[in-house]
Amino acid sequence: MNIAKVIVDVPASSINQTFDYYIPERFQEILENGMRVIVPFGPRKIMGFVVGRVSESSFKRLKEIVEVLDLTPVLTNELLDLGKWVANETLSLSITALQAMLPQVLKAQYEKELIRMTDAELPEPFETLFAGRDVISFDEFAGSTVSYYQLQKVIQEGDISIEYLVKSKITKKYVTKIAASRPAHLLEEALLDLSPSAKKQKQLLRFFIENETSIEQKKLLQLVNTTTSTVKALMDKGLLETKREEVFRNPYNDAEIERTNPLTLTEEQQIAINPINEAIDSQYHDVFLLHGVTGSGKTEIYLQAIQNVINKGKEAIVLVPEISLTPQMVKRFKGRFGANVAVMHSALSAGEKFDEWRKIQRKEVQVVVGARSAVFAPFENLGIIIIDEEHETTYKQEDQPRYHARDVSIHRGEYHQCPVILGSATPTLESYARASKGVYKLATLNKRTNDKPMPKVDIVDMREELHAGNRTMFSRKLKESIELCIERGEQVVLLLNRRGYSTFVMCRDCGHVKECPHCDIALTYHKNSNQLKCHYCSHEESMPSACPECQSKLIRYFGTGTQRVEEAITQLIPEARVLRMDVDTTRRKGSHEKILKQFVDRKADILLGTQMIAKGLDFENVTLVGVLTADSMLHLPDFRSSEKTFQLLTQVSGRAGRHELTGEVIVQTYTPEHYSIVLASEYNFNDFYNKEMNTRRIFQYPPYFYLALITISHKNRVKVIQTSQQIAQLLMRQLQQDTVVLGPTPSPIPRIKDRYRYQCMIKYRNEPDLRVYIRKIVEQFADEVRKDDLLITVDMQPYHLM
Ligand code: ADP
Ligand code: ZN
Ligand code: ZN
Repeated sequence: MNIAKVIVDVPASSINQTFDYYIPERFQEILENGMRVIVPFGPRKIMGFVVGRVSESSFKRLKEIVEVLDLTPVLTNELLDLGKWVANETLSLSITALQAMLPQVLKAQYEKELIRMTDAELPEPFETLFAGRDVISFDEFAGSTVSYYQLQKVIQEGDISIEYLVKSKITKKYVTKIAASRPAHLLEEALLDLSPSAKKQKQLLRFFIENETSIEQKKLLQLVNTTTSTVKALMDKGLLETKREEVFRNPYNDAEIERTNPLTLTEEQQIAINPINEAIDSQYHDVFLLHGVTGSGKTEIYLQAIQNVINKGKEAIVLVPEISLTPQMVKRFKGRFGANVAVMHSALSAGEKFDEWRKIQRKEVQVVVGARSAVFAPFENLGIIIIDEEHETTYKQEDQPRYHARDVSIHRGEYHQCPVILGSATPTLESYARASKGVYKLATLNKRTNDKPMPKVDIVDMREELHAGNRTMFSRKLKESIELCIERGEQVVLLLNRRGYSTFVMCRDCGHVKECPHCDIALTYHKNSNQLKCHYCSHEESMPSACPECQSKLIRYFGTGTQRVEEAITQLIPEARVLRMDVDTTRRKGSHEKILKQFVDRKADILLGTQMIAKGLDFENVTLVGVLTADSMLHLPDFRSSEKTFQLLTQVSGRAGRHELTGEVIVQTYTPEHYSIVLASEYNFNDFYNKEMNTRRIFQYPPYFYLALITISHKNRVKVIQTSQQIAQLLMRQLQQDTVVLGPTPSPIPRIKDRYRYQCMIKYRNEPDLRVYIRKIVEQFADEVRKDDLLITVDMQPYHLM
């Protein structure tokens, strides 16, 4: 078996293709699947993943592997297979799928170092190689006669460690620890032998007689108030030894987090958790949809199911949306499972992320809590996968590979024969439909654990405000409630639903929104041409000067930002202290946490922000939640806009009155009669679901139809149009009768970076070979893609229609 199958890092190689390479003698004993290697490819040397070993190849004159990058595989066999599956599902390259599973640090080629982990003598030939140094470069090892096999052994023994020189690695990573090298009774004997004048030495020895553990040298010296020479003297007598230990860059201080105990479950929770535990106990795969209002105790169910998994010696993955991966959320998991939890969060530095990943790889933790990519955690014995807030679109990756974490979770759940839990107060229509059909198991939590009712939601019609002469962005009701709230010493959360601003056109008098006559979707205003366009069927018209419904001249596109709102509040309620949280104020690492902390510490009365404040936050003192314009998302050119509005309003309402104080929610809108606003204010998920499902059925959208979006872009507009038309024709020839191909039409953002973009949307019910067709069609353009900078991207089940 001296030939390796390697997936190489060449973006143009076709899917699933591997290349064969000879394994030179020096790597034969150590090379395993899932290791990264450097191989010659044409004139270059590139990185690749070993995915198999064989003894024969159908190719002659194989080249040799040049270098091995890992001495421990970075991908398990399961993940290698998963990579193949992801590549196939998302129509991306295998190499891209494999890279997506690894922390950033492993994606680039970093300099490596070998670090001595012990002060005891290293086995030869390493003592000679290190020649008295603590750190040597990996290249020095590679250039020596020492074998990779020998190195792998000492690494496994823990005497030497490989480090990647990550730029952010400024924090100190190793500490020297002192430990006794003899058992206590021998230390006591030695104590008697010491001369009476060696007071400090005696003190040191007593410390180790009384405390058996090892201790950081610095701390020990402080404790006993002595210097290294005392330690040295005892080391020379063979009584003490030093050991170097890795300190993980731990962004969360585990010691400071108070430990919690499992709560006695309510009846509803018990009914929900039983079948989950049953699946864990009997080791079978099932998907559970946990539908529970905010505060109904979903997280407690996750925690107790995970405990069951841990008790069985297995592992758990918990996915949470990036923006709700707040310290509050992390605390709940660390509070229950302590240092047994790794956290994967985009705000961590590359080095910190790598540390967390390595805890998983080294089996030092059994739980990972993380954003989307944590679904690829290299656990080998999974007992549960949990996706909290399963409706969040951040679970879909928007670059290649365009995978959805939910699909990947279910795939891994099948492999490991373990349950997958999808939790949400507002499940996606896709998931709820599956649960209704029995494909997923549904568990519902109707009550908040504290028996508090959900806060009452007041809808304020902003058209009436206007008619009453109020032209500010605050209704009289909201202004008054804010003032009262601040007077009571309580706090306010204000949501500016900014997504989609300045794109749609609405009449401020009657709330009329210009929609496409063919698609029932809001037209998008194009400022450059002063035109309204439909992104689904290419309908366009010019911007009207008066409202077609009521002839009012107050028809205009919308545009405002948090900054302007902040100014407006300060004018309106000068005494209010406002904290603003949006992309601008949270760009710096840690600023998100800082703002939240200031708010919790009551340094401000109002927290004003965009979507990011709606999620997972739990403030005791917040009794008023205001939504400035609930409609702004409603008219986006996206068939999910009603669903997203419903979800957002429900989520943000859940922020008020979670504790002793009763909460109030005020929703300002120009379309108070819209069902997603009315039903969200009643917390009526079921009616919303039925109504929205009906719309989706009529307009042939998910979950009734699947979608595939093909986007074509090039600098030359004519070429884009021609290619798009060819692709659409080729598709239509292959597809079933009831499949719809929309387009080609210009993409909602028709030009990015001087490239024109067109798209074809495929709506289908049953096309088992669709991926094969699309791949074949795309391959027909391979030459132009390579030579002429044509770009064709395919997004299966797109969430982002831009
Ligand atoms: P969700 O995740 O559905 O929003 P949580 O799990 O955060 O709900 O629960 C809301 C609050 O209720 C939390 O403060 C939690 O500690 C508490 N809680 C959850 N389950 C119970 C229980 N069985 N008994 C008492 N309090 C509970
Ligand atoms: Zn009007
Ligand atoms: Zn249209």
